[in-house]
Amino acid sequence: MITKLLDYNKTELIEIVAAYKQEKFRAEQLFTALHNGKDYDDKMNLPKSFLNTLKENEIILQPAKIIKEKKSKSDKSTKFLFELFDGNLVEGMLMQYKFGSTICISTQVGCKMNCLFCASGLNGFVRSLSVGEMLGQVIAVNKSLGGTVKKREITNVVLMGGGEPLDNYANVLKFLQIITSDDSFNFSVRNISVSTCGIPHKIETLADSGFPVTLSVSLHAPTDAIRKKIMPIAKSYPINAILESAKYYNLVTNRRVVFEYTLIEGVNNRPADAKALAELLKDFPCHVNLIRLNEVTGRDFKAPTVDSCKKFLEALQRMQISATLRRTLGDDVEGACGQLKNRVKESAKKE
Ligand code: SAH
Repeated sequence: MITKLLDYNKTELIEIVAAYKQEKFRAEQLFTALHNGKDYDDKMNLPKSFLNTLKENEIILQPAKIIKEKKSKSDKSTKFLFELFDGNLVEGMLMQYKFGSTICISTQVGCKMNCLFCASGLNGFVRSLSVGEMLGQVIAVNKSLGGTVKKREITNVVLMGGGEPLDNYANVLKFLQIITSDDSFNFSVRNISVSTCGIPHKIETLADSGFPVTLSVSLHAPTDAIRKKIMPIAKSYPINAILESAKYYNLVTNRRVVFEYTLIEGVNNRPADAKALAELLKDFPCHVNLIRLNEVTGRDFKAPTVDSCKKFLEALQRMQISATLRRTLGDDVEGACGQLKNRVKESAKKE
């Protein structure tokens, strides 16, 4: 079995290292080195013989390596292509704002959900990412910005890249445990967002997990009939059940839930849809994040005009719904919402 050391928390790493007859402080040094993005070729303050033994045993230090970076010309965002230890590729985005830098990472190679407007499911589902592969994306980008584990250059992490985080729940939870620990990056849960297509029982489990991250629910429709046309998962879970679980999340965590609503021309952007959405969400302390559809090659839907998106926003606000229209970042590098997908290695490298 292939061992990826970043899949483990510090306590577990101490045990693994003990099997190599190394003392606890070596495990601690190794843990820090891994979170600083060190690999076999880098300088590390660990005995060469120990590192050689790890290498001989095919133990992987960095399971997600940046193999390509594409900077947007129009804004301060960068798309990253990561190669995983087994050759699979996933994408992530770095968005640099005045207040800090947000990294959007992938949680799966491909996606099972197959939302009809999104690129993530276009090449099918391959597999879920391990803890270390999610962590590895943060580590690699932090390192590329000149950050370290104790002086990080990344302020926010969002699980909104390829894949459905709650379909990889156990690994996502352990990822949250590690990344928020002070052994590691010490992120505050307030600076982490998890986005889901809406799986009610998993939302409730996350509420009870003790990690009150910002929860984003991809709603995209005010009625089940419209939702079923664009999101196959809507056939399994009605909006009412999703809303109940979001309310439970809010009750347990005291966090305001964000509803993502991608505006698609002629599908969910009529005045009647704004009205139905406001009716659905009234009296619930939430926020609606409107996103103008990023058109995806291989998908049929069209983006509404910016003007009509603004009208939809104003309609919601008039009906006392807290809402914003999200600025699109990175669309010229196909890094905007829903444009991230798993790629096939050779063609991706050539692009
Ligand atoms: N599976 C998770 C996270 C991945 S997508 C989820 O469904 O939330 C992150 C967000 O981008 C989701 O709200 C998703 O619905 C949205 N999105 C997907 N494709 C899009 C597109 N083409 N244009 C705009 N937003 C899109």
